[in-house]
Amino acid sequence: MKKLILVLIITLVFSCKNDTKDNGKLNIVTTTTMITDLVKNIGGDAVNVDGLMGSGVDPHLYKASEGDVTKLVNADIIFYNGLHLEGKLVEVFEKMGSATKRPIALADQLDKSKLIGSDYFASNYDPHVWFDINYFKQFANKVTEVLSEQDPENSEVYKQNEAQYLAELNKLQEDVKGVVASLPEEKRILVTAHDAFNYFGEAYKFKVVGLQGLSTATEAGVQDVQKLAAFIIENKIKAIFVESSVPRRTIEALQEAVKSKGHDVAIGGTLYSDALGNDGTVEGTYIGMYRYNIKTIVSALK
Ligand SMILES: [Zn+2]
Repeated sequence: MKKLILVLIITLVFSCKNDTKDNGKLNIVTTTTMITDLVKNIGGDAVNVDGLMGSGVDPHLYKASEGDVTKLVNADIIFYNGLHLEGKLVEVFEKMGSATKRPIALADQLDKSKLIGSDYFASNYDPHVWFDINYFKQFANKVTEVLSEQDPENSEVYKQNEAQYLAELNKLQEDVKGVVASLPEEKRILVTAHDAFNYFGEAYKFKVVGLQGLSTATEAGVQDVQKLAAFIIENKIKAIFVESSVPRRTIEALQEAVKSKGHDVAIGGTLYSDALGNDGTVEGTYIGMYRYNIKTIVSALK
């Protein structure tokens, strides 16, 4: 029944669709907060950006509302992460595949042979690619290319915005390297609720362990909790981390398990994994989120 309603909505909205843009600007719809922030940086005042997912929203579980479907169908361009991060939106995107403006999965252009594999996702890859800043730069390249194609009049604006943003990302990489260098390699073990940080780990030599595996769609079993508690004790890990888009109890259960074995582990803070912080705050931007995460991780594990 739900599927039928979805098809009806898509059909209905398509038949009403007209191609005029608001204020002559491109209407862009994005999925995750990371992508919304990126497109706002490249598009600037020349585009309208409407992000479907807000702060604290888990993209693995996110389902499109009727309002979302209307926005998607009326968009000039849709950017999403891909690699099955937005697992429940794939169905909507596939139905839109016949339209001339196909949704653009930013991760599709990355060199697959360099990505981290995963049996869990239908894509066979770990989708949390934005935690490698180099991949996020490639997202920026793609967004700039698509905006310039669709709106050639403003292509210079997009290219300038991109150059400025890439410079900020370069600076971010330098700064993160500096902070990470202050933490000895044997202390670089990051335990979180779910495996969002594998690309981060690869880039900065952290061993990354997620309690729930790669997606929040699977729940951690009692055995997983006990095994990970033993691992924390064995490796004398000082702190474990909550994630803003995953319920806190997941990591609290792990802390309890460590305590029940007569040891102590602190909760080192809340990391932003699959969603940025609130709009209008520093952590509401990709760059601010990255700086916040690295500071939180390194100061808790030192
Ligand atoms: Zn995730």
